[in-house]
Amino acid sequence: MTQTEPGALVRLRAANRRSVLRALAQDGACSRADLARRTGLSPTTISSLVRDLLSDGLLTQRPDCGTPHKGGSGRPPRMVALSMPAGGVAGIDIGHRHVRVAIADRTGTVLHEEERKIDADERGPRTLDVAVDLLDQSVASVDGFTLVGVGLCVPAPIDRRSARISTDIMPGWRGVVPVEDLASRINVPVMADNDANLGALAELHRGAGRGAHDFIYLKLASGLGAGLVIGRQVYKGSTGHAGEIGHVRVREHGAVCRCGNRGCLETEVSVPRLIELLQPAYDIALKPATVEQLERDGDPGVRRVLEEAGGAVGRVLADLCNTLNPSLVIIGGPFGRSAAIHRGLQAALDRYAQPDIAQAVDIVSGELGIEAQVRGAIDLAVAGVAHLRDAQL
Ligand SMILES: [Zn+2]
Repeated sequence: MTQTEPGALVRLRAANRRSVLRALAQDGACSRADLARRTGLSPTTISSLVRDLLSDGLLTQRPDCGTPHKGGSGRPPRMVALSMPAGGVAGIDIGHRHVRVAIADRTGTVLHEEERKIDADERGPRTLDVAVDLLDQSVASVDGFTLVGVGLCVPAPIDRRSARISTDIMPGWRGVVPVEDLASRINVPVMADNDANLGALAELHRGAGRGAHDFIYLKLASGLGAGLVIGRQVYKGSTGHAGEIGHVRVREHGAVCRCGNRGCLETEVSVPRLIELLQPAYDIALKPATVEQLERDGDPGVRRVLEEAGGAVGRVLADLCNTLNPSLVIIGGPFGRSAAIHRGLQAALDRYAQPDIAQAVDIVSGELGIEAQVRGAIDLAVAGVAHLRDAQL
């Protein structure tokens, strides 16, 4: 009769603990049932591990979230999440036209936020000076706050091999490794990703994508990109460039795009382009908020332009839906709640996607709006810091 040596059982339990921590670092808060599915461990083992990790202070219980099981009692399952070591994190969202910084406590609750409008394309890596300035102001505004990690959001793909930002999209950032540049200035670990991926991550953890397994998050702003969530993971592609639908060619002899090609979707429907199209017909200077208000007031010109923009995006999205068969398309960015864009998108999906696929997909607004990127950066920092600690366990 063989007997399992006690050392082997201890090692197995330690490996199982790491599996649970890794799953939570990747996916954010999970129910125990989700953890069992993700790790392949039995529900009994998961219950026992979670009980130990809660009592060790490595996990916290979150009663406030989760989607009720279909056909269940209607009560959401209790979720567990990684707890952070003492101190908090920051999210830094660099857009083409802004820098937004938010600091958060160890549960991801935002404590303070700062924003400055700047041209990050023209200013290049000196944008990070502004980010550090806003970060210092934010940290100083909360008594006793200790920064232990930062998530950085940039408006262009980051190459997974070199960690450099794509200079096709941001030529002013040539040669910059944003993670290293920022980490050398602030002396804490920095994790980075692009705006569409982090918007998708935030909506997955705490927004419209909670409970969904496969969805497309669309960021329609100064640029246009998609974050692809497949099996509750953000899919980045082999080099980190997945989801660049803004650079699908839609007009043979169209305007020259910042990527160097002509007639990219982004040259037709970015927020600045839509405002440029509308502006000659109005006496007031148009901003995204003004356009939203005009749409709500029933302005026919605004409705027409936004509906056609939704149609142009939907034509490209229909092909992507045929490939991925998602259950949701989440629209983020300043016009994420535009009914006209939703109508245009829906009509294009109904016309161009395979009927069963079009029927299976719901088009919804992002719940986090323009906050999605900074919230995703915070989630990235929380997971990254927990992952570093996990590696030290
Ligand atoms: Zn392009």
